[in-house]
Amino acid sequence: MLPGLMQSFPLQISTILKHVEVAHHDREIVSRLVDEPIWRYTYGGLGKRSAQLAHLIRHLGVRPGDRVSSLAWNTHRHMELFYGVTGTGAVLHTANPRLSDDQIIFTINHAESLVLFYDRTFAALVDRLKPQMPTVKHYVLLSDEERFDPGKVDAICYEAAIAAEPDRFDWPTFDENAGAFLCYTSGTTGDPKGVLYSHRSVVLHGLAGGLSGAFGLSAFDVVMPCSSLYHANAWGLPFAGAINGCKFVLPCEKMDAGSLHELIETEGVTFTGGVPTIWTMYLDYLARTGKSAGALKRVVIGGSAVPRAMAQTFQTVYGVSVLQIWGMTETSPLGVVATPTPSLAAKGEDEMNDVIWTRQGRFQFGVELKIVDDNGDDLPHDGESSGALLVRGPWVLEKYYRAQMSALDENGWFDTGDIATLDPQGFMRITDRKKDVIKSGGEWISSIDIENAAVACPGVRVAAVVGVFHPKWEERPILIIERHDGADLTEADVRVFLEPHIVKWWTPDLVLFDTVPLTATGKIDKKQIRDRYKNALAG
Ligand code: ADP
Repeated sequence: MLPGLMQSFPLQISTILKHVEVAHHDREIVSRLVDEPIWRYTYGGLGKRSAQLAHLIRHLGVRPGDRVSSLAWNTHRHMELFYGVTGTGAVLHTANPRLSDDQIIFTINHAESLVLFYDRTFAALVDRLKPQMPTVKHYVLLSDEERFDPGKVDAICYEAAIAAEPDRFDWPTFDENAGAFLCYTSGTTGDPKGVLYSHRSVVLHGLAGGLSGAFGLSAFDVVMPCSSLYHANAWGLPFAGAINGCKFVLPCEKMDAGSLHELIETEGVTFTGGVPTIWTMYLDYLARTGKSAGALKRVVIGGSAVPRAMAQTFQTVYGVSVLQIWGMTETSPLGVVATPTPSLAAKGEDEMNDVIWTRQGRFQFGVELKIVDDNGDDLPHDGESSGALLVRGPWVLEKYYRAQMSALDENGWFDTGDIATLDPQGFMRITDRKKDVIKSGGEWISSIDIENAAVACPGVRVAAVVGVFHPKWEERPILIIERHDGADLTEADVRVFLEPHIVKWWTPDLVLFDTVPLTATGKIDKKQIRDRYKNALAG
């Protein structure tokens, strides 16, 4: 091999910050806050305050490689932690406040964090958990000075502390493979597992996210991330958006449809993204109020399957394209994104929409995918064969934090735990998570396909399908429906609606009306539903 003669310039997160400071100095960042007025500044301000924060953590004794935790919403201060902490070579652990107390304690102790930055919303939680977090030496409340009452809070005030620091920091150069973010999986099965993103993986993932076949970002976009910054880095938007010089609009925790709509209208949001539950509420709100989606052009939706009806309504009623994304914490999370191709477009709009509204996405450069059968043998890309989905690439996990063993097979593939098909056009479709597959009489039923059909039924807000024990068939599907307010939908209505859309033997044995519980990451909590209804068909 002849060695290349180009610079081995490390891919560090600080290079993104340095870039936006010169290239997009005056582009705006707007942030809602827990109980403070809307905050506005620019990338120039982000650069300065991230530098002040970097000095602060150095003074608090944080060295490269040390961990710092956050319990925070989608705000500009959290963005400053994204850049300021990682820029020094320390690691930001973005704790998920929707986990149970025990799991939050577990993750912070497992990370051995030295400092915890938290929003005021979590003040009582932090007070309660403090005695059980022995490694945390400093607590910093993400608050302005005006609302900080030193008599009541045993913490450092963020604004007062960074104001005392210089606004330039000499960002150090180090190995691009150094750890940058520690994100834990939600631990619905066992303890949460730590996924340690490196500078290299974050920068490459950020570059890939902005590409035209993925989010397709440009400097004219106004990006509002509604997936949480603490959940797989809000799908890399803080980096993909910055690399492209987008304006940022940060909604804090105010993800109700009315608050989101207000920001979309007043700030000119063109691009947003989040889990399906948020967009169910948003579409509901638009339909109820007769309002428009403003300048919104694209919504990236993922985390669980996007109902076809949702993508169709966004496009046909509001002129907004839905980009479905599939991914997981272990894949940073971008795996595939559903965007059109020329060969699909040549088939006409209807056929093209049929594909991009019903697939999780298509191959993106950087993430290799394959499907295998129970023996580990490769399955064809015929759109029919379904098998375990395996992935590999530069932003896919190799090993969980503090694990002894690699998480990969001998050829470097990571088993996602999902079951999928791949088709000749390069699109992937998830049929289920391995643990949610319904086995009926030795055959598989896709819970996602039934949910997708059911959620298109007028009056249905959320539909969840789980397999429960059946004395004859091993398992049979049951369908739990959460109705829209005021809808008087009956079981018979649902059955009539489903009939033309699913094969007969997939028809749920029971249709029930109940609230649908969600997990810490906003997904349907199938484990809880299975527990609740485990004897429903026992006879
Ligand atoms: P958790 O911590 O809840 O596991 P992740 O975000 O890491 O959170 O979950 C990843 C899983 O979410 C994937 O393995 C897949 O099962 C599911 N998922 C993500 N995106 C989609 C999608 N577009 N359609 C169907 N399932 C999805």
